[in-house]
Amino acid sequence: MEERNCACCGVRLTDDYVLTANDEMICDDCAENEYTRCECCNNLVYNSDVYGEDYDHILCHTCYEEYYTNCDECGDLIDRDNAYVLDEQSLCTSALRHGNISGS
Ligand SMILES: [Zn+2]
Ligand SMILES: [Zn+2]
Ligand SMILES: [Zn+2]
Repeated sequence: MEERNCACCGVRLTDDYVLTANDEMICDDCAENEYTRCECCNNLVYNSDVYGEDYDHILCHTCYEEYYTNCDECGDLIDRDNAYVLDEQSLCTSALRHGNISGS
């Protein structure tokens, strides 16, 4: 039987391994201690590769780039679906409310 090792700590893997977003096999311990799940795509992301933490989001780089943007007014991270694009600016709902735009 082919021997597999954890891509993270190098420990020999049994049948219990976890696959990361990069298709690397890692052990349960590393999955728990070194990785976090992207709240968007649910893939395992290496802790230091997590984006959006400053904004209370846990995202992989792909989701961060594809689905999120920063509000041009307050700098907050917003889901593109909830971003209002106005004069080429992306705005969050609160910026929209505080801004000079009236109506819905
Ligand atoms: Zn490991
Ligand atoms: Zn993701
Ligand atoms: Zn904002």
